[in-house]
Amino acid sequence: MLGLMQSHGLMISSILKHAARHHGESQVISRTHENTTHRYSWADVERRSRRLVRAMQAMGLEAGDRVGTLAWNGYRHLEVYYAAPGMKAICHTINPRLHPDDIAYIINHAGDKVLFVDSSFAPLVSAIAGRVADTVKAVVMLAAPDHMPEVTLAPGMKLICYDQMIDGADEDYAWPLFDENTASALCYTSGTTGRPKGVLYSHRSTILHAYATALPDVLDIRASSRVLPVVPMFHVNAWGIPYAAALTGASLVLPGRHLDGASMAMLLNDEQVTFTCGVPTVWLGLLQHLRSSGQKLSTVKRIMTGGSAAPPLLIEAFRDEFGVAVEHGWGMTELSPVGTYNAPKPKQSELSKDEAAQHMLKQGRVLPGIDMKIVDGSGKELPWDGVAFGDLLVRGPWVASAYFGDQPGSACDADGWFATGDVATIDPDGFMEITDRSKDVIKSGGEWISSITLENIAVSHPDVAEAAVIAAVHPKWDERPLLLVVPAPGKSVDPAAVMALYEGKVAKWWLPDEVVVVPELPHTATGKLLKSSLRTQYREHYIKK
Ligand code: AMP
Repeated sequence: MLGLMQSHGLMISSILKHAARHHGESQVISRTHENTTHRYSWADVERRSRRLVRAMQAMGLEAGDRVGTLAWNGYRHLEVYYAAPGMKAICHTINPRLHPDDIAYIINHAGDKVLFVDSSFAPLVSAIAGRVADTVKAVVMLAAPDHMPEVTLAPGMKLICYDQMIDGADEDYAWPLFDENTASALCYTSGTTGRPKGVLYSHRSTILHAYATALPDVLDIRASSRVLPVVPMFHVNAWGIPYAAALTGASLVLPGRHLDGASMAMLLNDEQVTFTCGVPTVWLGLLQHLRSSGQKLSTVKRIMTGGSAAPPLLIEAFRDEFGVAVEHGWGMTELSPVGTYNAPKPKQSELSKDEAAQHMLKQGRVLPGIDMKIVDGSGKELPWDGVAFGDLLVRGPWVASAYFGDQPGSACDADGWFATGDVATIDPDGFMEITDRSKDVIKSGGEWISSITLENIAVSHPDVAEAAVIAAVHPKWDERPLLLVVPAPGKSVDPAAVMALYEGKVAKWWLPDEVVVVPELPHTATGKLLKSSLRTQYREHYIKK
């Protein structure tokens, strides 16, 4: 027997309408390219998004069309976020930090009909225009008429000014209701190996993710919150914050392109931000700035860190010096992206200061809706004892079932489990801790060594700015850990002093066999360590000697 409740589809436009109607006065604040501050309300976002739909319809865009964006976090980008899915089209956010060859590949693979582009990416678009001309018919510059940049497009491509287009459009659009499983947004994974792959979100997955992330034990976003996503809107929908903010009526602060410590500190304080989120590199930059300038954070209470493991020092420094809680979340493009968050259970109040610090390094408990397990190499489920580590599998309504262009279900096993490519432990309270990417784990004499654990210890040395541990081939043990460290500015690193830090913290057989000091480490377009390139360079380090 079916229930007798109304079955309104979960529509992205419904949360925008909700924000406009019930939180119309909550602000959306953007730092622009011209370094001015643009302010308007959720009511304005909704009204202008309706205009944008009308303008896109006038351009000939239809349901199912992919609308590409190459843009920083800003209000015009936000309007595309809502207008495209609101007319059944798909908002395809493209990471401008990727190599231009990859960007051209992604645009062609997605079949983007139009690109919405921030003026700072005009040179990038000029460089790839010829390679995407088969699919892209128009480039819309997210700018006012007097700030239109120089851009060279391919023959047949139209150049449009966003503000002019919006000003000339009607706003008589009524947001339609349709199947909640309709595709809403597309984002390609950064892909450290092989070509990027597209993850195609739906209205349903996006709304359920927004409900779950807004919960008190996750991001705890509410109408009185002032939220600043440092994580770019081109990287997994800025972790879903643009949707969670509308859902709750929170004010949203969009930082534009300047994400250095000084710019962040100023914006966080000026706009009285209460919650912010981004990758550890951003927080390290902010920490350095706060320390050197003597500035404090006046309103920020919590920072969500994710994307890669946060070093313990970062969490401790913000807590002890600035009274700000740095909390771990974990996720990935294929998970919309948030899968777990480290919020305490009652038991955690009994932990000592040291135990609590250790506990904060965990990536956290699953959000309700997501299920997870860890398995060994043969697929056997491993115990939740906080010690056994294995491949992390997840499933749930905001986990990808297939990549764009592939058969539905092809990214999962028969029971719907998606292999994350991460290696993790889960403790008896359900707190998951990432110990590695499966391809980064060090397999020494048949046992696994966590590269992240070793890296966290190395960066606790004050002279070490960054560390990477990779598996180098070893004649006796198959693989052994090799530690690469980058000295902090103006410092030199004594390898023996770094090795001394491991004393008593890890088993003897986990100790890196060698410390190599390097001037810098390579990173991916999303700021993660590019270990594949380090492996190519150092894989044979021990056998070449
Ligand atoms: P992406 O799809 O680019 O967001 O990358 C997802 C990957 O980033 C995950 O599979 C993890 O390897 C890594 N990751 C995300 N969040 C964390 C975290 N809090 N700690 C450690 N690794 C993380």
